[in-house]
Amino acid sequence: MQIPAPFEYARADTVDDAIALLARHGPEARIIAGGHSLLPMMKLRLARPEWLIDINDLFELDFVLRDGDRLRIGALTRHTTLLESTEIAALFPIVADAERVIADPVVRNRGTIGGSLCQADPAEDLATVCDVLGAEAIVRGPSGERMLTMTEFHRGAYETAVAADEVLCEVRIPIRSRSGSAYEKVERRVGDWAVAAAGAALSFAEDGTIVEASVGLTAVGLDGTVGAVTEPAPR
Ligand SMILES: Cc1cc2nc3c(=O)[nH]c(=O)nc-3n(C[C@H](O)[C@H](O)[C@H](O)COP(=O)(O)OP(=O)(O)OC[C@H]3O[C@@H](n4cnc5c(N)ncnc54)[C@H](O)[C@@H]3O)c2cc1C
Repeated sequence: MQIPAPFEYARADTVDDAIALLARHGPEARIIAGGHSLLPMMKLRLARPEWLIDINDLFELDFVLRDGDRLRIGALTRHTTLLESTEIAALFPIVADAERVIADPVVRNRGTIGGSLCQADPAEDLATVCDVLGAEAIVRGPSGERMLTMTEFHRGAYETAVAADEVLCEVRIPIRSRSGSAYEKVERRVGDWAVAAAGAALSFAEDGTIVEASVGLTAVGLDGTVGAVTEPAPR
C-alpha cells in the first residue's frame, strides 16, 4: 500500500488566505486543488510537502467569463466544466478536443486547469492548448499580481515561474474573431497520457488569409520542455 509521508493540512477561505498560509509555512507548503497529480506523487513519496493548503473552497477561482477580448478561466475550473462549456467549444474547439481525451470522468470531475498548468508535466494536454492559444497566466502573491505568458510560465519539465508563496488565479485567452484550432493525441489506451499530441491554432484575415499560425507539441522533446511555436504567416 502506498501511503504519503505525514503532513499538516489547512483549508484556505480566500486567495489572500491561501497566500498568507503559503508565506507562513514556507517552501514545504503546497497547494492542493484536484489532487490528481499531487496525491499520486505523495503516495509514491516523490513529493513530501509538510503542509497542504487546500483551495477547494475558493469559488472565486471557479469561473469561465468573457471579458472584452479575453476569455477568463479561473484556476479552480474543473476539466469537466471546460469540456461541457458551449462557449469554450465555440471559441476554442482545441479545448474540447483536448478535454475529451484527458483521463476519465473521475479525474476530469476533480482535476483543475490551474493544477494541470502548475504540475507542468510535459505530457499535460492543457499546457500545449494554452500555449497554442497564446494564453496569459495571472499569478498572485504577497507583493501583488503579475501576468505571465505561457513561455514565461513554463520553465521546463515540472517547473514553473510560480513562486512558493504564489497562487495561479486565472488564465486569460485572447479571443480572435476569425480563428480555428484543433488538438490530436496519440494514446496507448483510452484516457491514457499522450504518447505524443499536437495542437494548432490559426487566425485569419477577412479575406481568409492566414495571418498567424501556432503549433504546440505534447510529450515531445528531449529536454521535456513545454511550448508552442507561433509564426505570423508569410504574406
Ligand atoms: C489516472 C490519471 C490520468 C490522467 N491523465 C491525464 C491526461 O491524459 N492528460 C492530462 O493532461 N492530464 C492527465 N491527468 C492529470 C489531471 O489532468 C490532473 O487534473 C492535473 O494534472 C492536475 O490538476 P489538479 O487540480 O488535480 O492538481 P493537484 O494535483 O491538486 O496539483 C498539482 C500541482 O499544482 C499545484 N497547484 C494546483 N493548483 C494551483 C494553483 N491554483 N496555484 C499554484 N499551484 C497550484 C499543486 O501544488 C501541485 O504542485 C491524469 C491524472 C490521473 C490521476
